[in-house]
Amino acid sequence: MQEMKPNKKPFIAYWLIALLIFAILNVLLYGNMAEKQAEEVGYNVFMEMIDGKQIGEASIQDNQILFTNKDGSKIYKTGIINDPDLYERLYKSGAVFGAEIVEQRNPFFYYILTFVVQVLLLFLIWRFISKRVMKHMGDSPDMMSFGTTGKSNARIYVKSDNGIKFKDVAGEEEAKDLLKEIVDYLHQPEKYTEIGAILPKGALLVGPPGTGKTLLARAVAGEANVPFFSISGSEFVQMFVGMGAAKVRDLFKQAKEKAPCIVFIDEIDAIGKRRDNLLSNNDEREQTLNQLLTEMDGFQGNTGVVILAATNRPDSLDAALLRPGRFDRRIPVELPDLQGRVDILKVHAKKVKISDNVDFSGIAKAAAGASGAQLANIINEAALRAVREGRRVVTQSDLMESVEVVIAGYQKKNKVLSNKEKLVVAYHEVGHALVAAKQTQSAPVQKITIIPRTSGALGYTMQVEDGEHFLMTKTEIENKIATFTGGRAAEELIFHEITTGASNDIEQATKLARAMISRFGMSEEFDMVALETVTNEYLGGDTSTACSAETQTRIDKMVVAVVAEQHKKAKEILQENIQKLHEISKFLYENETITGEAFMKILESPENTLLEKPEV
Ligand code: ADP
Ligand code: MG
Ligand code: ZN
Repeated sequence: MQEMKPNKKPFIAYWLIALLIFAILNVLLYGNMAEKQAEEVGYNVFMEMIDGKQIGEASIQDNQILFTNKDGSKIYKTGIINDPDLYERLYKSGAVFGAEIVEQRNPFFYYILTFVVQVLLLFLIWRFISKRVMKHMGDSPDMMSFGTTGKSNARIYVKSDNGIKFKDVAGEEEAKDLLKEIVDYLHQPEKYTEIGAILPKGALLVGPPGTGKTLLARAVAGEANVPFFSISGSEFVQMFVGMGAAKVRDLFKQAKEKAPCIVFIDEIDAIGKRRDNLLSNNDEREQTLNQLLTEMDGFQGNTGVVILAATNRPDSLDAALLRPGRFDRRIPVELPDLQGRVDILKVHAKKVKISDNVDFSGIAKAAAGASGAQLANIINEAALRAVREGRRVVTQSDLMESVEVVIAGYQKKNKVLSNKEKLVVAYHEVGHALVAAKQTQSAPVQKITIIPRTSGALGYTMQVEDGEHFLMTKTEIENKIATFTGGRAAEELIFHEITTGASNDIEQATKLARAMISRFGMSEEFDMVALETVTNEYLGGDTSTACSAETQTRIDKMVVAVVAEQHKKAKEILQENIQKLHEISKFLYENETITGEAFMKILESPENTLLEKPEV
């Protein structure tokens, strides 16, 4: 189900072509007919032509005479006159006579015929165009109507064989199971009504962007044997101000007529935002929302209209929308875990030519934290890279490089770091990794590179997958903060000078330290009191404070203390291992890249005490 409103422009072009064809056809057909129609002439003309031996054929009929000129290109007709020696004169003139000359007696009939032919042609062309438009829509399910249905802007899709199916959605098993049940219900409602079960009226897909919410809904459309209305929340509020509520009404009216069916509202937060009396009072949106609430109440559970909606901002939705009886089911669509990532990579790898020995789990590990959309993008970037390098199939190295491309941006070819900067970046990155390694006694990274990226990053560290991890201890958080400060600590230690390169680290460290105190209850002073609430779980996780100004001041002081303590710890760790810091940084500086294994090998080898900071 791509956006299915086809571009208007090609359409106009098609119609112009069609018109042209008709014009040509008309000229040909009518021109031809005019020729074949007999021209009415006087008997004297007939006689003159006989005398001038200009007649090719003649046919004397009961009430008229038809004749042609010598080469038969024109037909004439004239009336019958009592003319006894006509035959003799005709014979003498050399005309062939007695044969039947076909005159198109009934031009009206031919008009009808051409009309029918035109209508037929029109129909064929229309079929051709609509087939092509369908093709353009690629893997989308067939569509019952273009563009708008009524006023609601919803697009209807019906099941087709080439649409997206559940098998195209990798991972997300729980979400798929819940949706499968809904599809199954619509197929065989008896199975459920027999027991007395009522189908949930609505299900809300929630999760971070790019995790496949829209894709799942498309899969439902592809699997379900029922009409599928799809509309995006923003379409309700777009363009026609004041029409939102009417559009909702219209959509549900159509849905009820077509029941059993599924209505999918993508990005529902555009209309379903919590009604509040804060600054912006948006009447239009509230009316639309109210209408939606009313409509969802308006039909009983078993009418067969199921409403699916997707959002990545569930916390901003109006509570009334979420109460049972409206969206009673909330289907979390989370970022994929390792296995999920492997599966998603495999699904998308089917679309490109890929070499047989690719190790998907290695790539999935490297792409820790990537969403389904990013993984799809990784495969595509790898394919592009393979083409760029003149290869026919995608290889492991293409995929590995494109992981970095998708997560950190392209390598900047023209941005050359000065040697001094490169050295600083090398120490900075190794500083992070060394602090992490010393705290956990394991390889902290998969790979570090110090090639500038288009995203602005000067170096890139590929973290190791730390397995399924749902809880974090206080010590782990503290270690993480120490790791964030490790980059800056290395700069201070080696260069006695600090750079702007640590801005992102500072942000992350501060966030963690603040969360420890205000959300995780990890400070003695505030115990288990929530001082902050998260408002935007799936989109970066903004927080809003919920405490007095004095408390805030105290929190701020404690945050500073936590970060400073870890910063100090990081510096100590690096000081103790300063030889290793030199060694590893030198390696990275010279090679521009270091793998986790090489890192650990240097770290665990006996110390090379002669090493100093390389001169640049
Ligand atoms: P959102 O959750 O933001 O609606 P989409 O459904 O639009 O995300 O996903 C974007 C793209 O990412 C999909 O078209 C698909 O190519 C890819 N994708 C995301 N999740 C998955 C998945 N679980 N399996 C396969 N492809 C996925
Ligand atoms: Mg989406
Ligand atoms: Zn850093």
